Amino acid sequence: MKIITSITDMQQTALSLKRAGKRIAFVPTMGFLHEGHASLLREGRKRGDCLLLSIFVNPIQFGPGEDLDRYPRNLEGDCAIARECGVDFVFTPTAAEMYSTGFQTSIRVKDLARPLCGSSRPGHFDGVATVVAKLFNICQPDVALFGKKDFQQLAIIRRMTTDLSLPVEIVGMPIVREADGLAMSSRNAYLSPEQRQSALCLSRAIHLVRERHAAGERSAARLLEAARGLILAEPAATIDYLELRDADTLETVPTASDTTLMALAVKIGTTRLIDNTVLGDET
Ligand code: AMP
Repeated sequence: MKIITSITDMQQTALSLKRAGKRIAFVPTMGFLHEGHASLLREGRKRGDCLLLSIFVNPIQFGPGEDLDRYPRNLEGDCAIARECGVDFVFTPTAAEMYSTGFQTSIRVKDLARPLCGSSRPGHFDGVATVVAKLFNICQPDVALFGKKDFQQLAIIRRMTTDLSLPVEIVGMPIVREADGLAMSSRNAYLSPEQRQSALCLSRAIHLVRERHAAGERSAARLLEAARGLILAEPAATIDYLELRDADTLETVPTASDTTLMALAVKIGTTRLIDNTVLGDET
């Protein structure tokens, strides 16, 4: 496994691999890898001749007062997981090279970036789309894998790939959870043991809504009320958003169906966690 830091080295390596007829599978991350990332890497290993992982904590997707400076990092641990998953190249660029002096071009995402995380984190998805487009140009992937944990992000990347005619197949992968239901996230590292328990209210709210929906409840208002009650019973939790929306358009729906997305962001103390489910999907 080779670690590459320079953009030119990575791009030249990727272009030579392509010229040699290799299919490149790519998993972009911000590092501090866990089993969720590993599931993407393992699937990537099957889908490409060559597996490329990027680790980059992207400053332009963080807003003022967010956790850019304290985002957890562990390159050594990440490399051990990457090796285990059969990664061929780890690309770890510096922010200084990714956004060199004079940088002023970015991608603007319209409607899909407005609700949910886009409304709590203005500019976040423009930052995500811009860095992913840059990483695609540097890493030249044939296929790129993203987690459904970041459902809106996946929808936006799919849209961007179509809108900008990027020659990359986008694969969405299921959410990997801890045994007790908590969706895996690098940010779970911020939680104290008590907060870790409180954080279960997200997956429990999802479970409750899935159960009620399976039992025939279709009123979005009633489903959301039940979820809200469960979360508000947890003193450490404050709701950022809790919504039912159409999984394709991300527009609000008065009535739930199998293609309805339930998405929520909840702060446990100062740690903001997200989770989601599509009501008709298996998990
Ligand atoms: P991040 O490092 O948080 O930017 O995540 C990198 C990629 O891993 C994104 O495509 C995420 O959606 C995906 N990912 C993060 N957590 C999970 C999880 N629990 N299950 C599946 N994919 C995940």
